[in-house]
Amino acid sequence: MSLEKEYALDWIEDSKKLIIGISDKVWEFAELGLIEFKSSALLAEELAKHGFRVERGIAGMPTAFAATWGEGKPVIGIMGEYDALPGLSQKKVPLKEPLEHGKPGHGCGHNIHGTSGMAAAIAVRRAMEKHKLRGTIKFFGCPAEENFSGKVYMVRDGYFSDVDAVISHHPSSMNDVSLLSSLAVNSVKFHFLGKASHAGASPEQGRSALDAVELMNTGVNYLREHVMQDARIHYVIEKGGDQPNIVPSYARSWYYVRAPEREQLEFIYDWILDIAKGAATMTRTEVETEFLEGSYNVIPNRTISELIVKNMREIGLPRHSDEDLKFAEEIAKTIAPEMKIAQLRKSKRPGWERLVDKLIDDEVPDPWGEGEVSHGSTDVADVGWQAPTVEFSTATWVLGTPAHSWQAVAQNGVGIGHKSLIFAAKVMAATVIDLLTREEALNRARKENRQRIGNKTYKSPIPPERKPPLDAWEK
Ligand SMILES: [Zn+2]
Repeated sequence: MSLEKEYALDWIEDSKKLIIGISDKVWEFAELGLIEFKSSALLAEELAKHGFRVERGIAGMPTAFAATWGEGKPVIGIMGEYDALPGLSQKKVPLKEPLEHGKPGHGCGHNIHGTSGMAAAIAVRRAMEKHKLRGTIKFFGCPAEENFSGKVYMVRDGYFSDVDAVISHHPSSMNDVSLLSSLAVNSVKFHFLGKASHAGASPEQGRSALDAVELMNTGVNYLREHVMQDARIHYVIEKGGDQPNIVPSYARSWYYVRAPEREQLEFIYDWILDIAKGAATMTRTEVETEFLEGSYNVIPNRTISELIVKNMREIGLPRHSDEDLKFAEEIAKTIAPEMKIAQLRKSKRPGWERLVDKLIDDEVPDPWGEGEVSHGSTDVADVGWQAPTVEFSTATWVLGTPAHSWQAVAQNGVGIGHKSLIFAAKVMAATVIDLLTREEALNRARKENRQRIGNKTYKSPIPPERKPPLDAWEK
């Protein structure tokens, strides 16, 4: 291992208490997307203490920030998230027990996500100074991954226009550097406006907005036969009227539309807009469309993924204490074996069968999944259309743990989570140093990114007039 890497990794090892303390604080804050005031401030202040120039409130979001150290090329970015999920409050115990009923919790481990990135950025900055490495390190504090695609606004406003490569880390039940793509997505609400009337005495005077919602859904359900296999369309009816004896004058549905490529998505999305208009015509109501968020599909990068895997193997997986393992075993008892198997199979990881009887993932496989699609969506994707970008995962949870579950919340705040955090910070720091010091690897990553994008162009999925929904939680 190079001296620069050793120096950076030593800082992380020596600063474990500080790093884990910050992650645990963010876990406790458990703030929702776009209102992560305490969490973003904590990370930004720590970076400032280490000499980073911090620009806060970027891209119209008070909790978004960029922290920069160094100057000139190359510019390597690290992303960190810190938003929690509603209703997932959970104590640090291996049985379901909310800390505070109905409150948010860190079910996706973004307390670790933000902190591993912050720690890596500081460690790299120290190695850069000590070993006189040229270039710039940039930490992006990225709000609202879970619901409002904060990064897509940051991309739209040009904050990723000068980066040469970007990495981030996500907690998971697996050590995972996959080449899977993801689904592009649009999230949209349809507001139907009709006319209220007494549903018994004068129904002929009314125009039902609920009829429109139902007819639109029926139309979309007929559309399903004619969309590609990997597309996904899902909806909820958020508002369907007040009571049966009033013809509903207002009704609302909320749709997610997903497909492997943006243009495939646009094709289906346009069709759905026509169906909404058709439903309005059929019911003599009106429809208003409210676009909420959208993102592109992930562009994988083999070059950076291979660097990450190499660093993971060199650094070595964390060792768990007896206490960690006991906690892990208790959590494992709450996960049905068939759920675990289904999840492992779905991961598409080659050799997943080997993991069925294991408690914690103890392998570091080669990057896998080239040419395949995972059926989720992420705003990390949009960054990958600006520069080569890889988000890798480390085993933070017992195998079989579903994301966004109470089990994940509990594990993100205890030993198994802490060890994954420190390991991930080291892997990220080492990989960023590779990208800063090995021009040929960085050039290869950039070339690969350009090749994978080919002649497609990136056009922000968010309409130009759309601002981040800062008041979303007040509604
Ligand atoms: Zn997440």
